[in-house]
Amino acid sequence: MENTSLLQLFATDKQNQIRSVDEVARGLACECRCPSCGKQVIARQGEVREWHFAHASISECDSGAETALHLAAKQLILQHQGISIPTRSVSETIRLKDGRNGVGEATRPELWLDFKDVEAEMSFRNIRPDIVASLENTYFFIEIAVTHFVDDAKKELFDELNIPTIEIDLASVRETKWTWPLLEEIVLTNTSHKKWLNMLHYPDLQKEASDIAMKNALNMAIPESTSNANVVNERNRFLINGRILDLIVKPSTLAIWSPYDPLLNEMIKPLIKKAGGRWYPKYKNWFVPLKAKTYLLTELEKLSGKPPKTMSNA
Ligand SMILES: [Zn+2]
Repeated sequence: MENTSLLQLFATDKQNQIRSVDEVARGLACECRCPSCGKQVIARQGEVREWHFAHASISECDSGAETALHLAAKQLILQHQGISIPTRSVSETIRLKDGRNGVGEATRPELWLDFKDVEAEMSFRNIRPDIVASLENTYFFIEIAVTHFVDDAKKELFDELNIPTIEIDLASVRETKWTWPLLEEIVLTNTSHKKWLNMLHYPDLQKEASDIAMKNALNMAIPESTSNANVVNERNRFLINGRILDLIVKPSTLAIWSPYDPLLNEMIKPLIKKAGGRWYPKYKNWFVPLKAKTYLLTELEKLSGKPPKTMSNA
């Protein structure tokens, strides 16, 4: 799956550095080689075709352009000893046995990551990431995809090692005229062509999201169907517009129940909203903070035209 549309825009110079076609002498004077096959290349800097390197011998090699681009990207990271990393976001859901649940999210913005040390093509157990960098207390892997992406087998190895890993996808960049400034933008500055294969500080973010989810779950009202059956609830039954409506006073919340009736619903909705209530589709009940008890009793009595029938039920 070689990308045949890709022109070879980088080559290796006498000092073994990757050079762009626009920064070397013209023709054979560039003294460059193809990093894939090792043969001599010519810097074609004509006026008709886009500038590129061509093999001096007749035959072009298959993967010169891709290999050169891959090496150029790696050279940039080695030179700059860091990259920008994309946003990190972890979401967790907690379900409590009493039926309450909460969602929590932990996010970190894009940031520039300075490496303490960077190595290319260093073997790490049985894998060889494109870049092995080190941070304060962890390694950091970078994979650069030009035509070859991390496959499932390699992904599994990455997962096993549990080391933060990012993939930079150069194949998804529409531009094929690669220059140093463009490559710097994609590899170093920009984050839109990067994706996490293994997120940096994932366990910390996961814990943070879980903690928020737990807090949110605990802040919710305990749903009626699963709350403690021994607790005695006070039930105030109104008759409004020919429909039964119960205001149930629970230990931690008020619940409002009525058979579904659009007209009744329109009448009570403003009151409940004003009292800070929310509709929970799962329980088919409105839940309202306890402090609104007097307000709701008064307002519902006005709607009904008479005081409620009060009962206690377990
Ligand atoms: Zn070649």
